[in-house]
Amino acid sequence: MTHNHLHDHDHNHHDHHHHHHIDPEAISPSQFRFVALLNFVITLAEFIGGFLSGSLALVSDAVHNLSDTISIVLSYLAYKISKKTNDHKRTFGYKRAEVIAAFINSTSLIIISVYLLYEAGKRLYNPEEIKGWLMLIVATIGLISNLISMLLLHKSSKHNMNIKSAYLHILGDTISSVGVILGGIAIILWKIYWIDPLVTALIAIYIAKESIGIIKTTSNIIMQGAPNVFLPDIQEDITKIPDVENVHHVHAWMINENTFHFEAHIEVKDKMVSELNPIYDEIRSILTEKYNFNHITIQFECRLCQNKELIYTGNESV
Ligand SMILES: [Zn+2]
Repeated sequence: MTHNHLHDHDHNHHDHHHHHHIDPEAISPSQFRFVALLNFVITLAEFIGGFLSGSLALVSDAVHNLSDTISIVLSYLAYKISKKTNDHKRTFGYKRAEVIAAFINSTSLIIISVYLLYEAGKRLYNPEEIKGWLMLIVATIGLISNLISMLLLHKSSKHNMNIKSAYLHILGDTISSVGVILGGIAIILWKIYWIDPLVTALIAIYIAKESIGIIKTTSNIIMQGAPNVFLPDIQEDITKIPDVENVHHVHAWMINENTFHFEAHIEVKDKMVSELNPIYDEIRSILTEKYNFNHITIQFECRLCQNKELIYTGNESV
């Protein structure tokens, strides 16, 4: 049987030229640890301040900060695991550790948001007196610490969804700190206590909204979803190559948001195996340059498969 597998062995070459790849040194372990510690200290301060002042907004800020601390620790562990090289047990490597962390982080944010909305609703019907000044001071300290954390994570968050999920935790909290500060001012000036649950509700809605995007992306990756390409376009480009008869049984998936895999059966005119190399090179350059794939596996064949569907929907076990 003329079944030839040509694999893309040229990883280093690709990675080097691929603009999506993140700098592994973008965030240092000590920066990560600093951000985690900072958030933990602020969480404690806000819990104490929240209970002493009676501000639900501040307690909710503290709950959110606690989740920030956990999410930063989780992101950091996932980040470290993801840097391990491929081995016999994990032939795809460990990159999905970060996808799982991002999924957990954003899911936890949704749960926190629902809880905060529930608490805010309760408080709206039973308003309680709040010590505006204490609320204001503690929230200001929280705001400063969040700004520092954001600054440290900002650069790495742009190309790494895992760090972005931790970053979004802190971003949400920064916005909520501003909300709590404004609420504190309104309470000091006009004694309108309902502003506290209102701010809480708005924060919760914002956090939920930002998390849904990450849940969508990460669940798509975990579901082996294709990257954002139109496969019939790829089919057309590959079929244009001389001596290529058709493209079928395509699989396209993402290991993480930067690593895209492509595999397909390519039917060609009968020829020597060594004559397939130029065809492979053309396919590879189309897929890497035009469609951003990083890892390509092609099965060349000649009058082998009965089924020529682009996406295989049959049940033969090949
Ligand atoms: Zn085939």
